[in-house]
Amino acid sequence: MPETAVVWFRRDLRTQDNPTLAAACSADRILPVYCFDPRRYGRRAFGGQASFEYDGIGAGHAQFERESVADLREQFRDAGGDLLVRHGRPDEALPELLERVDADRAHFQTLAIPEERTREHQVREALPDDVTVERHWTHTLHHIEDLPTPYDEIPDTFTPWRKEVEAESRVRDPIDIPDVQRLPGDVPHAGSIPDLDSLGVVGDVPDDDRMPLDFAGGETAAQQRLDEYVWETDSLREYKVTRNGLIGRDYSSKFSPWLNAGCLSPREVYRTVEEYEAERVSNDSTYWLLFELRWRDFFAFQFAKYGGKFFRPGGIRERTDLDWRRDEVDFQHWQAGETGVPFVDAAMRELAATGYMSNRARQNAASFLVHDLGIDWRWGAAHYEHHLLDYDPASNYGNWAYIAKVGNDSRDGGFDVLSQAERYDPGAEYIQRWCPELDGLIGEYAREPWRMDDREQRDRGIVLGEDYPAPMVDPERLRD
Ligand SMILES: Cc1cc2nc3c(=O)[nH]c(=O)nc-3n(C[C@H](O)[C@H](O)[C@H](O)COP(=O)(O)OP(=O)(O)OC[C@H]3O[C@@H](n4cnc5c(N)ncnc54)[C@H](O)[C@@H]3O)c2cc1C
Repeated sequence: MPETAVVWFRRDLRTQDNPTLAAACSADRILPVYCFDPRRYGRRAFGGQASFEYDGIGAGHAQFERESVADLREQFRDAGGDLLVRHGRPDEALPELLERVDADRAHFQTLAIPEERTREHQVREALPDDVTVERHWTHTLHHIEDLPTPYDEIPDTFTPWRKEVEAESRVRDPIDIPDVQRLPGDVPHAGSIPDLDSLGVVGDVPDDDRMPLDFAGGETAAQQRLDEYVWETDSLREYKVTRNGLIGRDYSSKFSPWLNAGCLSPREVYRTVEEYEAERVSNDSTYWLLFELRWRDFFAFQFAKYGGKFFRPGGIRERTDLDWRRDEVDFQHWQAGETGVPFVDAAMRELAATGYMSNRARQNAASFLVHDLGIDWRWGAAHYEHHLLDYDPASNYGNWAYIAKVGNDSRDGGFDVLSQAERYDPGAEYIQRWCPELDGLIGEYAREPWRMDDREQRDRGIVLGEDYPAPMVDPERLRD
């Protein structure tokens, strides 16, 4: 009897360096499947708590996912195979498909987040006992089994962990694209990719001519971006110097949406960097891109270690001394980019309009919410979750917890947003790009419009409280 394997795609929407797909392809026939799980979209209860509801994955992220699935399907079809698509829970859709093709094995990616883990267990439970299930760890640069210290014993601070991994863990070589054309004889109907309305996502797909990049989902676009950033524009050469930028296409790689949907393998980025180092230059910048990928790994392994503890108000530190405010009006001002602090407002408006923000902007907007407004960090994280095209649970909640000083490396969480603006946006180009009402002001006034007295405000046509919000927080308090 020929062996048949089903591959359930998750956040690994690629054919290159996909160990799950490669393992499945050792069977005689393979059936690849993707499920749009209705539990992921629309209004959700945070950690199952009815008292804390928020809008889950937003339209931008869902559109990116749709495009990524469409691209993967096209690749399978071009190779003579197919990708089946279902709009339904995987633990309901998969057993039926496995039975239909009389599958012997099911292969899927395993992930670190409790909710994602639960989905895996549900699928496993729902499959017949005679089906062999194989789970594959494929989301990170370093394989979980290659960590020098087991994941549940790793240090909670980044630097010792990174040093250990750099010294003692080798990044595995990427795997080539397998032959994916051997579908089972009687293939169930392919199914169509659900539109955004039927997914029930909240909000609109970002469409703004100030987008830093056209973030099209899929492995094809991911490969193009990798090529463009590293080889065509040679931007990698300067990454360490430019990475704190705020405006433009190439100050940072913008790989994150593709990495997190799995359209791009971190190991492939690693290999490309190695090739670039051999062919062009090996410097601080080439090292630093890999350094940042290890931050991404670090948070993934921290979630493997701590699981749901990350989502508690006191985080993995179990802090009980923090009394988070839950003021909806103040929170809405922050969400809307109407705090009266221009650097923060620019960041929040960019997020809403594009689904993307630089790391610098993410840090400052988060720090303002948590340290200057004292609002529950998880509200902010849930807002980012809704808007970010590159939303990754571990990177998002891990970074938020870090900034709120309830997570890893919790010493350095708070930012002085005014000196940050002075340092990273001295001419206020970023501020004026997103807060056009401050256009025409000199840098100092655009960054801190309260420095203008009443007369100057009137003369320049920017009256605080009328043309632009008055600051929500006494500016003196914003300084360290
Ligand atoms: C509050 C907050 C929330 C965040 N939420 C997310 C999120 O949901 N998804 C996400 O991918 N990143 C998140 N980040 C990390 C970081 O801001 C983004 O990864 C980065 O800005 C993406 O742009 P890039 O691909 O051009 O990054 P680059 O600077 O080019 O970095 C290359 C890659 O390294 C990884 N990386 C870089 N910095 C970090 C970091 N601090 N933590 C984890 N990985 C990192 C990313 O995979 C990134 O694509 C968050 C940061 C903060 C402060």
